[in-house]
Amino acid sequence: MFNSSRRNLARWFTLSMGCILVLFAGVIYNLEVKDKFKALDQLLYKRAEIMAASSQYRLYQRRKQVDLSNIPLLGSGSHPADVELVYARWYDPNGKLKRFFGTPPSEQLQTSSEFLTIKSVDPFTNQTLWLRQVTLPVQGGNSVIGYLQVAIPLTETQNDLREFRLMLTLAVPVALGFIGLTGWVLGGIAMQPVQEAYNQLQRFTSDASHELRSPLSAILTNAQVGRLMAADRPQIHPSLENIIDSAKSMSTLVNNLLLLARHQGKLTPESLKKVNLNSLLENLAVYYNTQAAKVSLQLISHLPEQPIELWADPDLLRQAVENLLNNACKYTPSGGTVWLRLEPHPDRVIIQVIDTGIGIPEADLPYIFNRFYRVDTERAIESGGFGLGLAIAQQIVQAHGGHIHVMSNEDKGSTFQIKLPLMSHS
Ligand code: ADP
Repeated sequence: MFNSSRRNLARWFTLSMGCILVLFAGVIYNLEVKDKFKALDQLLYKRAEIMAASSQYRLYQRRKQVDLSNIPLLGSGSHPADVELVYARWYDPNGKLKRFFGTPPSEQLQTSSEFLTIKSVDPFTNQTLWLRQVTLPVQGGNSVIGYLQVAIPLTETQNDLREFRLMLTLAVPVALGFIGLTGWVLGGIAMQPVQEAYNQLQRFTSDASHELRSPLSAILTNAQVGRLMAADRPQIHPSLENIIDSAKSMSTLVNNLLLLARHQGKLTPESLKKVNLNSLLENLAVYYNTQAAKVSLQLISHLPEQPIELWADPDLLRQAVENLLNNACKYTPSGGTVWLRLEPHPDRVIIQVIDTGIGIPEADLPYIFNRFYRVDTERAIESGGFGLGLAIAQQIVQAHGGHIHVMSNEDKGSTFQIKLPLMSHS
């Protein structure tokens, strides 16, 4: 129970911290993308500006009518060769193409937006090429004398970003591993006081139940002796019967509490014995056949021919199946049928106790394995149980590494199923 709570704590811690980490990595990556593009755009803008300024200067030096066809187009060789231009294009103020170098453009200026990421195809290698393009209006005096459009490849930026992504994809799982480990350690620290308090409570229940056993058996014995001695005084018989019944019921409760307190967690290998499940269930079937017949019920057992053996605590296992058979007989009206089945599988066995009884309302099904949970007061008074039988059965099955499950339909019947692993003795 504590290990599963610790695992849950660690899982939720890793999940929540993992989400934050992934979000954080996403934000960092986006900031890096923005930074890279900002730097690239600045560079591109500078290149375009130098080209535009150079063209304006030549224009004014010549002091003649604006003629864009005379404007020299400056290639990458005329400037600090930081980045190689893929193309440069000059357009007149109406957006008509005047000059270009690099990839042939369309005759009309296509875009008015400043910076743009575009996909193109390298004419030589036929490979897809991503470009960053800037379109600048070039001012001559107070008017726009044309548009300059230049583009540089995004390859280097893409490579840098790819490396950054790779670093993040490696760093995030490593960080997640550390978070998981921290979660597991923190879960252990958080569960420690709860575990100590629980252990104390279990010790108290176990000690108290143990201490109560002797006075209870003294009460029972004395009441029974008293009934024998007062054979000739029938007026006090009902009171003595009452004492005997209450003492018996108290002893059952105390024994159940003791059982629950003593068998916590998985069983130790020393407490396991090789058990022949067929004969254990066969014995129970014989006993319950007589019990069922007393209340006009039919008990049918389906046990396989081949012997099924598993490592278990035979007394505890018997107790678990007994609790289910008891309930089946208790909650099935006369004339009904109870089945006890054993199904072998390669890696596990399934024990089923099926009845045609009153069933369990759907709303109660999630709680019936809780300690002291009883379906309704009416049937609780009639049956006289304490609501511990199923809790005990579940605890025993879990101590064997198994699982108990119930399916039920009100007024139709219930099926309790125990799955036990066929584990080897280690
Ligand atoms: P109890 O000692 O009261 O029978 P259990 O833990 O064995 O306690 O069962 C819990 C509740 O589940 C019972 O109060 C009963 O109402 C319901 N229950 C258990 N088994 C059956 C069954 N086979 N058919 C109908 N109801 C059942």
